[in-house]
Amino acid sequence: MKPFSYFTRSDDVLSSNGASFDVLVVGGGIIGSGVANALSQSGVRVILVDRSDFGSGTSSKSSKLIHGGLRYLAQGRMKLTRNLLKERNYLLQHSEVVRKETFDILVGRGQFGKTSIRAGLMLYRLLGGGRPSRFIENKGEYPVDVKGYFSYTDCVTDDAYLTVMNVVSAHENNAVCLNYVSFQRLEKVEGGIKVQLMDVITGTEFEVQAKMIINCAGAWILKVAPGKGVNPETTRLSKGVHLIYPRAIYPRKNSVAFKSPVDGRQMFVIPRDKVVIVGTTDTFTDSPDDLKVSPEEKDYVKKSCSFVSDSFSKANPMVEYAGIRTLYGTGTSPGKLSRDFKIIEDGISITVIGGKVTDYRRVAYKVAKLVSSKIHIGKVSHDIPRLDYPGLPWHNNIETAINFECAMTSSDIMERRLGTYFFDPERLDETTKEILEFLEKNNVKIENGFFHVQREKED
Ligand SMILES: Cc1cc2nc3c(=O)[nH]c(=O)nc-3n(C[C@H](O)[C@H](O)[C@H](O)COP(=O)(O)OP(=O)(O)OC[C@H]3O[C@@H](n4cnc5c(N)ncnc54)[C@H](O)[C@@H]3O)c2cc1C
Repeated sequence: MKPFSYFTRSDDVLSSNGASFDVLVVGGGIIGSGVANALSQSGVRVILVDRSDFGSGTSSKSSKLIHGGLRYLAQGRMKLTRNLLKERNYLLQHSEVVRKETFDILVGRGQFGKTSIRAGLMLYRLLGGGRPSRFIENKGEYPVDVKGYFSYTDCVTDDAYLTVMNVVSAHENNAVCLNYVSFQRLEKVEGGIKVQLMDVITGTEFEVQAKMIINCAGAWILKVAPGKGVNPETTRLSKGVHLIYPRAIYPRKNSVAFKSPVDGRQMFVIPRDKVVIVGTTDTFTDSPDDLKVSPEEKDYVKKSCSFVSDSFSKANPMVEYAGIRTLYGTGTSPGKLSRDFKIIEDGISITVIGGKVTDYRRVAYKVAKLVSSKIHIGKVSHDIPRLDYPGLPWHNNIETAINFECAMTSSDIMERRLGTYFFDPERLDETTKEILEFLEKNNVKIENGFFHVQREKED
């Protein structure tokens, strides 16, 4: 394992200044990190930058499902569901951070229809495998309007850590991966581009050259050198809100898929070890930074989920979060826009619009193929991106987060390496204390909130 830390980052920023790469990837969410991983595994010289921490955008704010999307099947998007199920099955087999979860889908008045769900689940199983689902009568575990439910299997993950695992894997394959480095502007030059980047920690600008730029800035793509064909008319933003409650208020084991009694939209209640995650909303927004959960949004999620259990309206959530989906297409309802991704190419730039966490490998492979046709990198293997870093999911390892996963702040550790913030928020204070103890013992200083490199003085 190569060291990948606040220390190596500082060296990498210095040595990147004035350096030439094949490809610059902007945005270290699941899509950008998957792309950087795939390209580095194909022998491409890659630099990946994120202006904040890896995975700190939408890729830590999802419902954390790895799924085919029964809802997409109901919309007639069979090809998308088939692709997603294929990816789900691959990730389940190849990643420690993806595991099976049983979902009850509710049937009854105001809920799903028995015949359509039976048929939908049969098709879901045909496309993705798994055990047949049986109808189980409601014996009081759900409200009286619910006749019963079908149980089926899908998967859950830690989206942020899956992102970090791809970044570490890319780093292992010699990609330069820099968090807290922001794309500023680019200039076309002979043979490619000259790009100004900024080290957000020191405020220093530096310059790199590359043959191509891949814009994976998610909801922010329009702000990062969008190529021709990338415009606000077809790049739509949709906000989704989740609430996290203590597990104790919801003792049932299975996750639940149901229709909101408020407006009939599909919602989820997802128990995850020590917490239960509920959501979500799907509303157009004009701003990628519209990340505050409004009282109305919170109220809507609470009201919707209290259909499944009264406790959600009575208890206070421990955590609330919002994320922004980037959807390609036009239309008046975000729920009707496809969740499939779109890759737009414009000379030296490639932009990725959308792309589910579940689908990141398919995006990365397609982008790598496109890059290979442009800068002749040789054959792109079918199995990229692989995870060349197994990670330590659901383990409390502060040392690994700092020395091998490039955490730069305590929040980087708790939100995107250990998952404390999302999966065990009651331990936040205790974990903060443990981090501070570790830092003190290892003589790591904090400056302006970031882990700080203290270099030996030169003569
Ligand atoms: C509410 C909700 C629920 C969802 N649930 C699921 C689910 O259950 N399963 C699933 O598969 N998918 C789900 N999705 C979809 C999925 O989360 C997203 O499609 C995916 O995370 C997008 O990843 P990304 O890498 O494109 O974007 P992001 O993760 O947002 O990454 C973009 C990155 O670009 C960086 N950036 C921006 N500007 C700059 C700049 N100037 N310089 C450098 N870096 C920059 C940002 O800091 C950010 O980290 C959900 C989405 C939402 C909103």
